[in-house]
Amino acid sequence: MKVLVSACLVGRCCRYDATARYNDAVVEALAGCEIVQTCPEVEGGLPCPRAASEMHRDGRVMSVEGYDVTEAYLHGAACAVEKAKRNGCSLAVLKAKSPSCGAGRIYDGTFSGRLVKGDGITVRMLRDAGVAVANEEEFLSTAASLLAECSTNCNVACS
Ligand code: SF4
Repeated sequence: MKVLVSACLVGRCCRYDATARYNDAVVEALAGCEIVQTCPEVEGGLPCPRAASEMHRDGRVMSVEGYDVTEAYLHGAACAVEKAKRNGCSLAVLKAKSPSCGAGRIYDGTFSGRLVKGDGITVRMLRDAGVAVANEEEFLSTAASLLAECSTNCNVACS
């Protein structure tokens, strides 16, 4: 089974500050699956490092410097959907809280560290395309059942 995973969770230094958020528990839980990495922000054309960005209530994504970067986020999300489809991924495990990858809770757009209910742009587009999405915390608490459920919807053989 192939699983789409945020590249920063598997060690790629692609975050806004050019660091990674390697999560060995996620990598361990995905042993036996083929990991398909995506970093929608970089694939959408943004540099690394880059200014931190957050989503506003109206859905636009603004950088801390005041630039509207929504188009890059939309483009990166479309790239992630295309990658998921091309690889037959029925599950995505994405980094929590990001305006791209965050599922369930994201930063509120004020750069104050406050979280609100909501999904990042890539999460929305993946779900619209029929891909199940979990952030790393949700995934780790339900890994076995999520993998079993998604493998029944998956046409790619498990290794
Ligand atoms: Fe990680 Fe996603 Fe942000 Fe890229 S866009 S750095 S994969 S959370």
